[in-house]
Amino acid sequence: MKAAVLYEVRQLLRIEELEVPEVSDEDVLIKVAVCGVCHTDLKVIEGRTRFTPPTVLGHEVAGTVERVGSHCQDFKAGDPVIIGMRYKCGRCRYCLTARENLCERRPAPPSLKKTDGTVITRWNVGGFAQYVSVPAYMTFKIPGGISMEEASVVGCRVTTAYNAVKHRGRLEPGDSALVIGCGGIGLNTIQFLKCFGAYPIIAVDIAEEKLEAAKKFGATHVINAGAEDPVKAAIKITGGGVDKAFEAIGNPKTADQIIQATRPGGTATIIGGLGNGPFTISSGRFVTSEITITGVSSRQAHDVEEVFQMAKLGRIELRSLITKSYRYDQINEALADLEHGKLRMGVSLWN
Ligand SMILES: [Zn+2]
Ligand SMILES: [Zn+2]
Repeated sequence: MKAAVLYEVRQLLRIEELEVPEVSDEDVLIKVAVCGVCHTDLKVIEGRTRFTPPTVLGHEVAGTVERVGSHCQDFKAGDPVIIGMRYKCGRCRYCLTARENLCERRPAPPSLKKTDGTVITRWNVGGFAQYVSVPAYMTFKIPGGISMEEASVVGCRVTTAYNAVKHRGRLEPGDSALVIGCGGIGLNTIQFLKCFGAYPIIAVDIAEEKLEAAKKFGATHVINAGAEDPVKAAIKITGGGVDKAFEAIGNPKTADQIIQATRPGGTATIIGGLGNGPFTISSGRFVTSEITITGVSSRQAHDVEEVFQMAKLGRIELRSLITKSYRYDQINEALADLEHGKLRMGVSLWN
């Protein structure tokens, strides 16, 4: 099978010939139709996330079940599925309390092999490949009416935004909300805020084109941070700060801004990863204002089915989130376009 292999930090991926992965008793073998191209992949390529080279990236997989292991009862060949979970140990205190997104002993996925025998690791899923084998618990059926392209991004970016709004931000109808960053995660956050009944929904970016998209997805007010201070503007619009603020970039400056724009008693949810370095909060006001600062790690398991249901009912929009589809041998172009902000969401096609 073809797969895109990363040999070193900041190098182009190489399309190479690998063995089709083995299928153990608990696994499903998926013929990959689509794999989303996500900022998480870029972070590995840039060396901001650790990996064991050579490795196969890609984690937003949609495809068709090709074969199932002998203990797998929930799927059969031909089922359209996505990978909507990460590997979990199943035994730690987080796994035992349905918060496996925080699993503290996450196992490494089994490695792959090149046809000449060279061992290739998989980063998380290893979805930039024509076939992927994963435990059945990581897999969810795609309901009718949702295409492979649309379904692929549900497993990561759409459900991460859902987790942010539902579980971390605990949004209630009538809450005022702010979203800084209107890329894929930001637009999804905005559409879930609309579904959950937030008002106003204030969207911030520095690109006019992204602010236009934010309006289409449900923003009621937009602020261009290149022209206006978003903290002052959000405080002015809401008369004192927003109830729920979200940062969807992963930048220390904008992460601090959402805390400063949150009203007393509100919650600031940082969705974009800030890495392991120090993070400065510019004012200690959040202490006596009882502002909750929280983060997000992917999603909870049942979020995937809830989001599919919302998509099926037409409450959220998936189609117009996908800006472009790339053939698998254009994977480097897809990653470059993502890095340069040319995509809402891009996907790569593998079969
Ligand atoms: Zn992703
Ligand atoms: Zn665990």
